[in-house]
Amino acid sequence: MLNRRKFFGAMTAGAAAVAAPGLIPSAKAHACSASAPSEAEIKAALAAAYTAHKGVSEGQNADYIPALAKVPSRYFGIALASADGQVREVGDSRQPFTIQSISKPFTMALVMQESGPKLIEDSVGVDATGQAFNAIFAIEQHRGREMNPLVNPGAIATVGNIKGASPDEAWGKIIRFYSACAGRQLQVDAEVYKSESETNQRNRAIGALMSAYERFPMDPEAATDLYTRQCSVSASARDLAIMAATLAFGGRNPVTGQQVIDRALVPGILAVMATAGLYDDSGKWLFQCRLPAKSGVGGGLIAVAPGRFGVAAFSPPLDEAGNSVRSQRAIIDIAQALNANPFAQFG
Ligand code: GLN
Repeated sequence: MLNRRKFFGAMTAGAAAVAAPGLIPSAKAHACSASAPSEAEIKAALAAAYTAHKGVSEGQNADYIPALAKVPSRYFGIALASADGQVREVGDSRQPFTIQSISKPFTMALVMQESGPKLIEDSVGVDATGQAFNAIFAIEQHRGREMNPLVNPGAIATVGNIKGASPDEAWGKIIRFYSACAGRQLQVDAEVYKSESETNQRNRAIGALMSAYERFPMDPEAATDLYTRQCSVSASARDLAIMAATLAFGGRNPVTGQQVIDRALVPGILAVMATAGLYDDSGKWLFQCRLPAKSGVGGGLIAVAPGRFGVAAFSPPLDEAGNSVRSQRAIIDIAQALNANPFAQFG
């Protein structure tokens, strides 16, 4: 049998067993109310979530990427971006950290924009794997298909489908696209990129295997390196809230007003985030929070309330599935407090 612990051996070794955040929302079905939440409601929701979870000490920093182990575990920040381009923040919301897998839906968007959604569907799929994010078993099951761009094999294959004469050209597209979503020029954290590059043997094997199954045309080493670089992009919770809000408002960045992602592509991106945004805990997440979301092993988490807001939280300690403990709890509370629930629009 597949044991998730094996995949995360290095990451969770020695960690006290961490219960997944068992925060079932109250029986009150929180519906997406039509009106935008007021400034006072947002401020109150952020402050309450921050205060409620600031003291949580469960979880452990990712340490399979050595540079991530060094990030202070106490960091905790939350930011929420609204339709009017206002960003409300609490805690360490301006602290930069590496976005890691939060990069994945944005590269997915870039490739869909360049080559159409069918390429993604056909090359890697849009299905949940039920496996850890770096599972090789998931590749073998369907020869690199029937997975999705939010797990490592699918993400590397997605990068490997970017059109470009050279990896540098492809990189230029990635960083420009992310920066347009964030509304400011983003950069790679050189230290994390180096650390991750020195320890990404497993991802290189995954890239090689996906290439062997002809899931993407780019050289596999180049694709894995670009993937490693995109994971090492540095951003704050504030930046990520704006990136999430770009998805929430149909691909239009509410701060800059730029239409970055084709509106028609966004529902498909959100569907895959709902299916696979928190890896093998995605179902549990959706049941508890109701919002499409994406986590990263740097401790970041974004969630999208379509038409209402984008929210991001940052706190490095992770649970066993690789999702930030405090970030999950904070966003679940905020979604509930602001009645953000796309599944409860009953008219
Ligand atoms: N760069 C990390 C990896 O490939 C990203 C994983 C994650 O955030 N879940 O292992």
